[in-house]
Amino acid sequence: MRTLVFLEAGRVEWQDAPDAAIETADDALVRPLAVAACDLDVALLRGLIPFQGPFPIGHEFVGEVVAVGAAVTGFAPGDRVIVPFQIGCGACACCRSGRTGSCETVPPVSMYGFEPLGGRWGGALSDLVRVPFAPHMLVRLPAGLDPATVASISDNVADGWRAVGPPLAEYPGARVLVLGGLRRRVGRRPSRLRGRQCRPRCGGGSPRRPREPPAVHHARDLSDHGGRQQ
Ligand SMILES: [Zn+2]
Ligand SMILES: [Zn+2]
Repeated sequence: MRTLVFLEAGRVEWQDAPDAAIETADDALVRPLAVAACDLDVALLRGLIPFQGPFPIGHEFVGEVVAVGAAVTGFAPGDRVIVPFQIGCGACACCRSGRTGSCETVPPVSMYGFEPLGGRWGGALSDLVRVPFAPHMLVRLPAGLDPATVASISDNVADGWRAVGPPLAEYPGARVLVLGGLRRRVGRRPSRLRGRQCRPRCGGGSPRRPREPPAVHHARDLSDHGGRQQ
C-alpha cells in the first residue's frame, strides 16, 4: 500500500509499505476517505516538534471498513466510520471510566501518525489502516454526513466540544473567545482583542506585550486565575 511518510521538516513523501492486515480477531481494516490536518501535523511539518522521521503521518480521519476480524460484530465492509486518533481497548479501568486516551492495555499515548511518541500504529494518510479493538474504537458515521466535513471529528472537533461544551453548560449563554492554531496573531487587531476582552474577563492586570503567541498568554492568564472565566 502507499503511505505518506514524514521525512524531516518541510519534507514528506509517498512510499510503499506492507499492506495493513487483520492481526487479531477484533481488528478492522479501514480505508481512509477523508483525513484532516491537525495543528500538530502543521507543527511537525514546520519543524516545531523535535521528532525524527521517517514515519507515517495522519491521525484524524473518517473511513470505510474494508474487512473485519472474526470477533468484530456490528460493523461490516462498506460501513463508514469515525476512527479515534488515540488507541483504546474499551475494556480497562481507564477506558471504562471514559479516559480512553490513558488506556492501560496499550503503551502510553498510543496513537496514529506520531510514531516517535505514539508507537507504530501507522498513519491515516495511507491506503489502509489497521484498527485494533474495533468494536470499541469504531464509531459509525451518521448517514448523510460528508466525510470531508467531519474529517477532524476524531480529534479537533471533539477537543473543541470538550473545551467549550461543559463550561457553557455551567455558564449558559457565556461569551466564548476562540484562540488557537500556530499563527502569531489572532485577528487583525490582536492587542485590541486582548485588551478589551481577555483582560477584564480573566481579571488580569495591564495588558502585556507578548513575546509568545497570544494564545499562550491567554492560557496562562486562565491558569493564573484558577482556569475560571467570569
Ligand atoms: Zn490531532
Ligand atoms: Zn483501555
